[in-house]
Amino acid sequence: MARFGSPLLFIDCNIIRRQYRTLAAALPGVELHYALKPQPHATVVKVLAAEGAWFDLATNGEVDLVRTAGIAPDRCIHTHPIKRDQDIRRALDYGITTFVFDNPDEIFKFTPYRERVRLLLRLAYRSTDAMVDLSRKFGCDPEAAIALVATAARAGVTVSGLTFHVGSQVGTADAHARAIEVCGVLISEAVAHGLPPLEVLDIGGGFPIDYLQPAQAIEEFCLPIRVALAGLPKGIRVISEPGRYICGPAGFCLTTVMGRAMREGRWWYYLDDGIYGSFSGQLYDHSRYPVEPVAPHAGPKQPCVLAGPTCDSIDVIAEDIPMPELAAGDLLMGRQMGAYTNATATDFNFFPRAHMLIVNATPAGD
Ligand SMILES: *Cc1c(COP(=O)(O)O)cnc(C)c1O
Repeated sequence: MARFGSPLLFIDCNIIRRQYRTLAAALPGVELHYALKPQPHATVVKVLAAEGAWFDLATNGEVDLVRTAGIAPDRCIHTHPIKRDQDIRRALDYGITTFVFDNPDEIFKFTPYRERVRLLLRLAYRSTDAMVDLSRKFGCDPEAAIALVATAARAGVTVSGLTFHVGSQVGTADAHARAIEVCGVLISEAVAHGLPPLEVLDIGGGFPIDYLQPAQAIEEFCLPIRVALAGLPKGIRVISEPGRYICGPAGFCLTTVMGRAMREGRWWYYLDDGIYGSFSGQLYDHSRYPVEPVAPHAGPKQPCVLAGPTCDSIDVIAEDIPMPELAAGDLLMGRQMGAYTNATATDFNFFPRAHMLIVNATPAGD
């Protein structure tokens, strides 16, 4: 702490490895493409590459990051459904050839490159219980899928598979399972219509982790997915795009009490990290992180308020959180903070975002 200053966000790569291996074991035969969006750190990418991971990219910045990290382009797919020509060219220049589309306009952006690309059609399946529902913003209605694949075929652009992303931090995999079943039907329909075979199914991300509320254990969560995948036509290459599940539990935030005030009978503790910093996910991602004092404190716990450092009233991390009495200089730790935290942090009010520290980048024993 003395060395790195406060606030600090550290990522434990041993936990990254553990999460990757646990999910790989829960989804046998499924290629895991790490979605960079929740934690786009080059070291995390390199650690996962060493584990044998693939990667899911969506922006030029992410393309540049994996390229600089030395990841082979054939281990990457580009999954943003809406792209400018410059975005397509940036990914193609690097060597990425798999892209995603969900509407006819997007097909024709690929006609100049049709010899070099294969597209996945993104379908919309809404997960009513996802904390973050992404099927409203992207994806075509499954009813429109065959017509879109046929339009691409007429334009000479190859559609090699289907993809969906039911949302993030979903409660159960019911939506995944239903979506896989519908995709299985569409894959057979494409054959019946004499269209080129759909050989790839990308089941997206959404795998949940514990926050203040525990999530379903991952083996249990993945069971309906495994059952649904077993019902697909043979020979389909199945991939998924986990983000949060891989990096969320690996992140820890250390923040220091800057000062305190008793207001209306309750302690307010002002921390040097908050909603505009590492806790931004509370706003954008609707997450609530477990926060505790680092050192043991004697004395009873009382409901208090944890506030961030900025002069904005929205910058409150927790109201009514039971804490022992704290004082300026005390250190608190937030857990489960590796996903959608620093990725969305700002320097608002000139409070610099947390310094990032990556630990165990080299596996023990190497
Ligand atoms: C953000 C995103 C992911 C990762 O989602 P998680 O819920 O973090 O696993 C995967 N696929 C797409 C298309 C995304 O936009």
